[in-house]
Amino acid sequence: MPARPSADAPRHSEPKRLTDGPLEELTKPCGRCGVAVTRSVYPAGTTFGDIERATAMFCDACTTDLDAEEAEEAEREAVAAEAERRRRIFEAANIPPIFRDATFERCRRDGVPEHAVAAAERWGAGDLRGLLLVGPVGVGKSTLAAAAVSARIAGTARAAFWLTAPEMFAALGSGFENPTRDRVLTTLQSGRALVVDDVDKGRPTAYGAEQIYLAIDQRIVRQAPLLVTSNLDLEELRDRWPEEYGPAIVSRLVGHCELIAIKGPDRRLAAAENA
Ligand SMILES: [Zn+2]
Repeated sequence: MPARPSADAPRHSEPKRLTDGPLEELTKPCGRCGVAVTRSVYPAGTTFGDIERATAMFCDACTTDLDAEEAEEAEREAVAAEAERRRRIFEAANIPPIFRDATFERCRRDGVPEHAVAAAERWGAGDLRGLLLVGPVGVGKSTLAAAAVSARIAGTARAAFWLTAPEMFAALGSGFENPTRDRVLTTLQSGRALVVDDVDKGRPTAYGAEQIYLAIDQRIVRQAPLLVTSNLDLEELRDRWPEEYGPAIVSRLVGHCELIAIKGPDRRLAAAENA
């Protein structure tokens, strides 16, 4: 319960004079180091005079230290806020949990060939617009793609979106006001980085081929980053879709992307990729 005001406490209807009267010297110990600090203050009994008597005073050296500490704290908060922003972008990128801790170092350790890791590093750094990773199941394409998109988010703090081909068809084919569908459309219509993992998966219908074609074509038109993985090689990809789409998709991909073929298989990675 708040203390009851004493009888001589000023009432709101009788405001104290703010600053009236000659300045007085006030000496108090520094609120931080204890050294005596003398300041000119308004007389006791005035509003500002009483505030100055009631608040701590700091010597010049401590004032400088306090300013520096405040600046450091602001800097720490800014760094933490930026890290949190990147964490949220990463969370929203739809990378499957099994690939979320993928790093280039781990890819190298697991035997992914150096030319592939180096190309993925360039894509992750934003030095490469398109990357097409081709190779059989189990050579580490998805892990490498995940490492690349993680690096890209960490480096650019810009949104990226990971989709498998079947996920893309499911999202685009779903009803309006589906949040995943909205995110897919936003990604396709913006310059946001897109990863299409397993572009060869999903039923090779004309509808699916059309969606794949449009997704890739929009990346090219918007000069947007694109990373595609495929278990099929180019010739097999071309033949997978109806003939009005297959060759067009592959020629678009090859035109926009650096092609990296990874030979395999590697047992350890096969276990991870098929999990
Ligand atoms: Zn001090």
